[in-house]
Amino acid sequence: MINIKIDIQKNHVVLTPENDEEKAKVTALWKLLVDCVGDSRKLVPIGEYVPQKNDIGASFHIEGLEFGDSSFVEVRLEDDESVICKTCNKLLHLKAGNVIPICCGEMMTVVD
Ligand SMILES: [Zn+2]
Repeated sequence: MINIKIDIQKNHVVLTPENDEEKAKVTALWKLLVDCVGDSRKLVPIGEYVPQKNDIGASFHIEGLEFGDSSFVEVRLEDDESVICKTCNKLLHLKAGNVIPICCGEMMTVVD
């Protein structure tokens, strides 16, 4: 269960993880935003956030993250699925809601 504490302090936002899973999430986000060679990336709000209308959460685009940079794209499974690495043929069985892992530098592929 992800339940990160979010504090808005004037012009900055503090995400405070409260368990290991949350720490891993914040670390992943941090790594996406901080580019050690170029400028740090920005979170840009996408669309609208109206909690009364839907419960899909607030979306942000990570500016500067190239599309196709698949090593950084996080995709969640909607159903229990098997995924395979096309490079080393490793097969994993994942549950709905799991993030498709990266293997051999590329996102693993869902097996039909
Ligand atoms: Zn692999």
